[in-house]
Amino acid sequence: MIVLDIEKKLKAYSGTEVLRIEKQFNAGSINLITGPSGAGKTTLLKMIAGVIKPDNGHIVVNEQTWFNAAEKINITPQQRRTGFVFQDYALFPNMTVRQHLNYATTNNDWIDQLLAIGKLNAFANHKPNHLSGGQQQRLAILRALAIKPAVLLMDEPFSALDVKTKTELLADLNNVFKELAATVLIVSHNPQELKEIASDELIIGEDYILPFH
Ligand code: ADP
Ligand code: ADP
Repeated sequence: MIVLDIEKKLKAYSGTEVLRIEKQFNAGSINLITGPSGAGKTTLLKMIAGVIKPDNGHIVVNEQTWFNAAEKINITPQQRRTGFVFQDYALFPNMTVRQHLNYATTNNDWIDQLLAIGKLNAFANHKPNHLSGGQQQRLAILRALAIKPAVLLMDEPFSALDVKTKTELLADLNNVFKELAATVLIVSHNPQELKEIASDELIIGEDYILPFH
């Protein structure tokens, strides 16, 4: 289970606002994060991953405290072992597809399984600039899964995929998520396509954005 009770000052163009989120996600569930652009969706994922620090509150994951402002606890991103799919993929330009996965795991059976799920077997020795946008995005997803994370954070992970690829990939990913018992948070501008696999939705809207005094 992910327990979020956090506050973060956002430096928006319109002035400073406070993002305040109180929400729990069940262990092993797939959940959507939606809301207008600039609401704080990416910031929320980054606070869970440990690369942005909340100003207040706590984050508890599977009964382990990842962040607690009052107790000055803030464990490192490495200790959290979250998988993160960045909106801009953040691939390594000089690494092949296989090296991306090998960077995260030495389990070759698991790497082959991932390559099959992402339909990248034939591209294992290619570098990102020799992949299509959709292939790069699939690689970013596979890399995030490679460490078998307990928490998988995905920022617009399907935006570059055509409908057919997306449907097939989603079915396969759904099985992997279940196998890993991962708790998955997916930021999406197109939540309709994920309704079938998602069990809960956090809408970051006006309720969560408060003026800063
Ligand atoms: P969304 O993903 O919902 O589009 P973001 O999380 O990217 O929204 O950004 C929300 C707001 O938070 C933006 O106004 C942005 O400028 C601001 N912001 C982004 N990163 C930080 C940070 N590290 N500290 C404070 N404010 C931030
Ligand atoms: P290195 O250890 O090689 O210096 P970094 O941790 O600095 O690697 O990250 C290199 C790139 O990978 C950056 O573009 C960063 O955004 C991205 N990155 C960082 N952490 C992760 C992660 N957990 N999963 C996937 N990509 C990541």
